Amino acid sequence: MQLLKDKVALVTGGSRGIGKGICLKLAEHGATVVFTYVSSEEAANAVLQELKDLGVSARAVRSDATKLNEAEKLVEDILAEFGALHIVVNNAGITRDNLLMRMREEDWDAVIDTNLKSVFNITKAVQRTMLKQREGSIVNISSVVGVEGNAGQANYAASKAGIIGFSKSIAKELGSRNIRCNVVAPGFIETEMTAALDQAVVDGWKATIPLKRAGTPEDVANTVLFLASDLSTYVTGQVIPVCGGMLI
Ligand code: NDP
Repeated sequence: MQLLKDKVALVTGGSRGIGKGICLKLAEHGATVVFTYVSSEEAANAVLQELKDLGVSARAVRSDATKLNEAEKLVEDILAEFGALHIVVNNAGITRDNLLMRMREEDWDAVIDTNLKSVFNITKAVQRTMLKQREGSIVNISSVVGVEGNAGQANYAASKAGIIGFSKSIAKELGSRNIRCNVVAPGFIETEMTAALDQAVVDGWKATIPLKRAGTPEDVANTVLFLASDLSTYVTGQVIPVCGGMLI
C-alpha cells in the first residue's frame, strides 16, 4: 500500500544515515522526495539514484540548514517545481561532544545552529505554504538525549530538548489549520554519527537497551512514515521514542 501517493516531502540531511533511511521509506510509499546535504555530494548523488530507481521524482539539493535564506530559497524552488509541500522532516544534525569544562563556544554554536536553528529556519520557510494548503505534517528528529540529558553532550542535549519545546509550540500554533508537528526521539541508531564512538561507550549504551540491539535507520523511518502519513491524522505535539525501550 502506498501511503504517500501525490505527496511532496522535504528531508534535511538525507545523504546518509537516518535521513537516507527516511528518504527511501517515503519514496517507497510514493512520495516525491527532495532532500538536502551540505558536504557529501557523492553520497547524495548515490541516494538520489536509489530514489529514482524506486520510480518517484526526487531532487538532492546542497543547502545549509543553518541559514534561513537558504531554507527560504529551498522551499521556493520546491514550490516552483512541484507546486506543493506536504511533509517536512527536519533531520540534519551534528555532534560536537565534550564536557562543559572543555566545550568551546564554537562547539556550542555549531550544534545549536545545525540542530535547532535549522528547525526554526525550515519551519518558518514552509509555514505560509502549509497554512494555505490547510495541510502539513512536520516531523522533527530529536533524541533520547533531549529527554534525559547526557554527560558530555550539553550542547547536543540542549538542541534536542529545544526541538521538543519548539515542536509542541508549533503544534499548538498551527493545529487549527490541519498542520501537525511531532517529534521522533531515536535512541542508539547505527550510523556514521555513532560509528565515531569508542567501543566502550557503545557497549555502555547497548547495555541500557531492553531490546538488546542498536536501532537501524529503518526503525526510525517507519515511525516517521506513520507521522508523515494519514495514519496519524489525530496525532500532534507528541514525542515518540524509537529507542528499543531505553527510555522506560
Ligand atoms: P549522520 O552524521 O549519519 O548524518 C547527518 C546528516 O545531516 C548528513 O546527511 C549531513 O549531510 C546532514 N547535515 C549535517 N549538517 C548539515 C547542515 N548544516 N545542513 C544540511 N545538512 C546537514 O547522522 P545520523 O543519521 O546518525 O543522525 C540524523 C539525525 O538523527 C540527527 O539529527 C541526529 O542528531 C539524530 N539522532 C541520531 C542518533 C543516532 O544514534 N545516530 C540518535 C538520536 C538522534 P552531509 O552528508 O553533507 O554532511
